[in-house]
Parts: sequence; C-alpha cells; structure tokens
Amino acid sequence: MGTATILDTAKHPAWKTMLTLPGDAVRQIQWRFADRFDLQMLVQSARSVARGTVARLVAGGERNTHEWTPAKAGMLEAFDRAGVTAAFMEPEEGGFISGPKNLALSLSAFELAWVDGGAATASLASFLALSPIHEKGTQAQVTRYKTLAAPPQNGEERKPWRGAFALTEPIPYVGVDTGMLNGKVAIAEWKEDEEPWLQVDKRGRFITNIAFADFVTAAVNSSDPRIKGSCVVILEVGDEGAFDRGTPTKKLVHQLSSTGDPVFSLKVPASRIVGGYTVKDGVIIPNFNHGEVIEAVFRRTRVPVGLMSAAKLLSAVEPVIRYQRERFRGAEGSKPGSVRYEQGIQQREDALHRLVDVWATGEAAASLGFAAARLFDRLDPVEKYKNATLKERGVQGGRAEMRALKDSEQRAIEMLSLSEFSPRRATLEADPLVQFVLMDAEANVICPATKLWNTGHGTNMMREAVSLMGGYGITEDCPGFLGQKWMDSQLEATYEGPEAVQRRQLTVTMTSEVFLAQFKAWTGAMRRIASDHPGTGACTLASAMTLWQWTLNYLQKATDPGGSKLYHGQRQGVTFALADALCWLLASRYQILDILELEAHGADDPVVSESLAGTVQFLSDLAHTQAAQAAGETSRICAELVFGYSEHPSWQDESHKACFLASELEAYEETMPGISAIAVDVLAADGSHPQKAGPCAGCTGNSEFLRLQNKLTTCLSGARLAKDRAADTVGKVMIPEALDYPA
Ligand SMILES: Cc1cc2nc3c(=O)[nH]c(=O)nc-3n(C[C@H](O)[C@H](O)[C@H](O)COP(=O)(O)OP(=O)(O)OC[C@H]3O[C@@H](n4cnc5c(N)ncnc54)[C@H](O)[C@@H]3O)c2cc1C
Repeated sequence: MGTATILDTAKHPAWKTMLTLPGDAVRQIQWRFADRFDLQMLVQSARSVARGTVARLVAGGERNTHEWTPAKAGMLEAFDRAGVTAAFMEPEEGGFISGPKNLALSLSAFELAWVDGGAATASLASFLALSPIHEKGTQAQVTRYKTLAAPPQNGEERKPWRGAFALTEPIPYVGVDTGMLNGKVAIAEWKEDEEPWLQVDKRGRFITNIAFADFVTAAVNSSDPRIKGSCVVILEVGDEGAFDRGTPTKKLVHQLSSTGDPVFSLKVPASRIVGGYTVKDGVIIPNFNHGEVIEAVFRRTRVPVGLMSAAKLLSAVEPVIRYQRERFRGAEGSKPGSVRYEQGIQQREDALHRLVDVWATGEAAASLGFAAARLFDRLDPVEKYKNATLKERGVQGGRAEMRALKDSEQRAIEMLSLSEFSPRRATLEADPLVQFVLMDAEANVICPATKLWNTGHGTNMMREAVSLMGGYGITEDCPGFLGQKWMDSQLEATYEGPEAVQRRQLTVTMTSEVFLAQFKAWTGAMRRIASDHPGTGACTLASAMTLWQWTLNYLQKATDPGGSKLYHGQRQGVTFALADALCWLLASRYQILDILELEAHGADDPVVSESLAGTVQFLSDLAHTQAAQAAGETSRICAELVFGYSEHPSWQDESHKACFLASELEAYEETMPGISAIAVDVLAADGSHPQKAGPCAGCTGNSEFLRLQNKLTTCLSGARLAKDRAADTVGKVMIPEALDYPA
C-alpha cells in the first residue's frame, strides 16, 4: 500500500492499530449505556428482528410493492414479540423500561435502520402517534392509549393497537409550515351538563401506518366560535362517521412502512382533545393548541430519525471493506497471497480515504444523535420539576414562563463564567432551574442539528458509500442494501420537517444567550482537551468554533451595502448557512467527547481493554479527519458571509484610488526595493489595469477574521497524517467472513 512507509507501526511503536471493528462493548461505553442492562437487551432484541425478519423481507423483494402486505404486517408482530413495541411504555403500561426513553427508542431505531429505514419508521410511527398523548395528554388518555398499544402479555388474546400521526395535509396546507392548518373541528352536539361532541374533518397527506392504524392523533383548527384555536384530537377506527384510509402513497423509499392519504370525517367526544380542555363563557378552550403539542413531540422524535441515517453510514463500512478486498479474487492474475488478491481495491489510497470519510461521518452523526437522546433523558425530569415549580408560582406557559426563567438564565450564564473551583459555581450548578435552562438551550440546538446534519450531510455521504461499491452499489443485490439506504435517507431528511424547518429553528435557538455562553465554555474546554489529546483534532475544532462565534457576532451587527441587517430571520442566505456550519462543529465535538469517554472507561471492561489503545487511536484519527472537514466547512461558510456581503471594489469607483500608479511604483522602488513585485493592483498611465474584477477588497474591520482564519488553517496540521493512519487501519482491520444478514 502506498502509505505503508510513512505509517509503519513498527517504526512508530506509540501508534497502535485497531484489529477488529468496534464491537458492542465499545459502543456501550461511547454512547453511555454500559450500565443499562435493559437497553443492552433492547439492542439485542431489535437487532435480532432487523437482521432476521427485516433483512429477509428486503432480500425477498418486499420493498417492491407499496401495498401493505401480510409479510410486512408480520414484521410488526415480530417487533411485538421482541419487545421493540413495548420499549415506549412504562412497566405499568406493559413496558419494561422505567423513566425517560429517548435513548432507548434511539438505540432501537438505530438497530432497525442498520438494515432498513422503513422498518425503523414503521416502529417509530406508532410511538409518534402516541407521543402527543405521552407529552401533553391527560392521565386518562395516557393510560388508555399506551395500554392498548402495548403488546399482549401473559397469554392475553388481543392485538395491540397501532397508531398514526396526522399533521401533513394536501397542498396547499400543512407541510413545513405547521401554522397553515385546514383540518377542522366544530361542535357536533352539546347538551346541557353533558360532555360536548365534536365533528372532526381532516384530510391527511403521506400519513405513516395508515393502512392498519386503530387510532390517529390529528391536528385540527377550530371552525366554530365555540372552540378556541387549534388542538390535536384522537380519532378511533370505530368512531361514528368516515375513517377512510385512502390510497397508498407510491413512494420510492421506506417501502416496509405504510403511507397513504386518509380522509376522516368523524364524531368524537370532547374528551379526545389531547391534554383536555376547560369551558369558559360557553367556549371550549383546549389546554394545548396543536403547535404546543407538536413542538413537544418533534423536539424528541426527530432525534431517532437522525440516528437512523447515522446507523446506515456505519452499516456501510463492513460491506464496503469486504467488497474492496475481494474485488479481484478469482481473476487469473490475482493469486492468493498477492497484494492484488489480498487487498483488492484497498491498494488504492483514494478508496481507503473515501471510506474513512464515510466512517468518520457515521461516527460523528452517531455521537451527536446519541448525545441528544441522552440529553432529553436527563432533561425530562428537570423539565417536570420546572413545570411544577412554575405552576406553584402561578406561572404557566408562553411569555410568562420566559419572563420567569430570565433570572435562571442569568444565573446559568454567571455560572459558566466562574472557575470550576468557585463555591458560587457549585451553588448555581445545583439549582435545578439553572440546570433546566442550560439543558433546554442545548437541547433546542442539538435536536435540530441532529436531524439536519445527520440526514442532510449523511445522505450525501451515503451516496459516497454507494459509489465505493461501483455498479453493485446501485443494484438490489448490493450487500448491506446500500442503494436503498441512500434513497431512504432522503426521506429521513424530509419527514418530521425537512431541512428548512431545522435550519429555521436553529437560527433562533443558536443565538440564545445561554447557548452562546455554553458554546464559548465548550470552546475553552476543547482547547484543554487538545492539550491532553492533541491527536483528536480538538485544537482544530476549537479554532473553528472561535471563528464561527466571531462570525455570528459580526453578522449580528453588520449590514449589507443597502443598509439592511445581515443576521435577520428573512435572510436565510446568512442565517441558514451559519446554522449549517454550527452543525458540523457540534457533530465533531460530541465525536471527540465520546472518544474521551471510551478512553476513560475502556480499561474497566475486560473485552474493551484488550484492544483499547488501538481503538482509541483509530477513532481519534477519524475524529481528527472529521474535525478538519468541519473546520474547512466553517472557514468556507464564514468567509463567504463576512466578505460576500460587501461590494467588490471596481476599477471605476472611488476605491481604485487606493491602487498604485505604475509611475509611482518606479519612484517607490528607489526607497523600497522590491515593492513592484508585491504591488498587485497597478494602474498604467492610460488607466488600463490587470484583468480581474477590480482592485482586491480591503479587509478593514475584518482583519481579526483573517487572523482567526489563518490560525485555523495552520491548525489543520496533522489532519491528513491522521487520515493516512486511519486509512492504514481500514486496509488491515479484520472483518467477519460474511455479513450477518442476507443480501
Ligand atoms: C413517506 C412519508 C411519510 C410521512 N409520514 C408522515 C406522517 O406520518 N405524518 C405526517 O403528518 N406527515 C408525514 N409526512 C409528511 C412530511 O412530514 C412532509 O412531507 C414534510 O414535512 C415536508 O412537507 P411538504 O412535503 O409539504 O414539503 P414543502 O413544505 O412543500 O417543502 C418543499 C421544499 O421547500 C422548502 N421550504 C418550504 N418552506 C420553506 C421555508 N419557509 N423556508 C425555506 N424553505 C422552505 C423545504 O425545505 C423543501 O425543500 C410523510 C412524508 C413522507 C414522504
């Protein structure tokens, strides 16, 4: 191999090589569930269904029809038997995991998507239908629907209820913009001293699980003055009226899930309003409008979707390595023992480097997504505490809540500015409301970042993975189903709000004072990590984080030549681009943190400790490669924004006065020999000038940017050496004889 001489580990004994692919024990430490036996069991169960039932369905061509078939229905039963369905429920509702389940659902979706994204979606869609009820429902609603949706236990003779979540409507109504709702709710009947009955009319578009759903949580607007605003209502298949499932969507992706355009016209009791209601002056006031319910739901459910794309990227590694190595076996000139036979396409540096990029992206995406999932698990109880505390103080929701939390936000910002040894810092850290605002600010950013970066950039990188398999990659026979996974990723980037929705959310949440104070503290911490772990790319990342924060600060104050503000909600060219850059940085940050975790705890695990040094070395090299890419993206985006909104000087305007005249240069040459060689914008006596757009733009006011960018560029030192080392490992790492699921 071309790089062998530089990377000869015999010459560099400090470098350790990873011998096998990172296994479960490594992942459990990195993604922090080494002490959660319940989650480890769930992973194994989900994996057995994925690599058994699901893989057989895909290999058997079940994706070739968009109809809901008995075989696909059988997959749901396999989920029930394996405990995948029950993962959403509390033990008293028929589940087996207590407490928050964001990490649990993410791990399960990750395992299913490792084989097929549609299977993962089919499992998640029922949870999505239950989520409005789980997040905002009354206790009676929670108990009824979660118990009905739990798989039968102890020989019970019943089919678990499946749900669908209906927000999206036929064009021109709800899609990205959840405010444009056409679904209607009105009073059907309201007898004195009795519960009112509602008439619900809702048409859905692209509704998952619809072929078999027993209940639907649907977003609707009031069309009746006796109902205020909007709400989410629960519809059941036996309700009076029409429950028309519509025709199946002819989708190109996720064919193992069911999707269609239903039409509902149903009469339901008012007790079906999610979260309940009050009556004031003869008007029903839902306790939560549809926007509040949906925000609470998507905030959490978008994380597993992002992790589905991460799983696919990591699942591509083993099939690609096998393909590359075996590529020339069997040819006459390729004898066992020869380089061509043993290494195949892996003789070529580009093939290895591209796989390193795919792998590094997968690692970063998984680290970001699992960090988000864990954060929501930690946030859930603190958020409940916050709600209870504010309720006690008579504060509930909206602006009143924002005002009430202002003080906690200032305390959080103060805490971040104090030394870690300060007693005041410890006091502030222990304050649950301070903890809430910190976690909330982070969650508000890393949830959309996971959805946006993992599925958006992840889809681009899935194309790279497919390309590494040549023609095979775009056939149904491709091991690891990479072609299908690539196409499927585009749906993951679209549903539950496409990229524009995530970017829009980020442009608001990433400018919160609390988030930016945390980001600054993270940058400092990254520098400290770099001093102990220089090989992780932490220093590169810290420099890129500094550049990003400087640019945001600059753009928030800067205007374009017309005097319009640059950082403005309507100016997506600025705000969306900065959001994109931030996602790269965050993914890289969590990737590095996961390596530190592995290094800190790997020695305690007998399986991991054996090859810990090699695994940490390899994962660090991937992280370094990724940090360099994140730095490059950040540098490119920030430079374009800082300079791109200034007019380029022109030869015609006043600014050319800063140029040298050719005649002047001759005179200067006497006192400053060599100046002619460095003067680039020189005007001849006849006014002619070099063939370019105009004199080079000055950098007044932006010299600090250039200083930071310059520093960032030099921080890239070593990044390609890390990539070479990672490539060397990719060329040597052992893989199993055959993939453990069929092609
Ligand atoms: C297979 C499948 C399953 C689905 N399952 C469900 C389900 O179970 N329940 C459900 O309710 N929905 C479901 N959906 C719908 C899905 O959530 C929507 O398709 C998605 O949110 C995008 O909405 P849209 O199709 O109307 O796209 P549009 O809103 O038309 O967006 C088109 C493009 O315009 C961009 N755009 C739109 N608005 C803006 C803006 N303000 N600023 C910048 N760019 C913008 C978008 O980013 C996108 O690139 C599903 C869709 C599919 C395909």
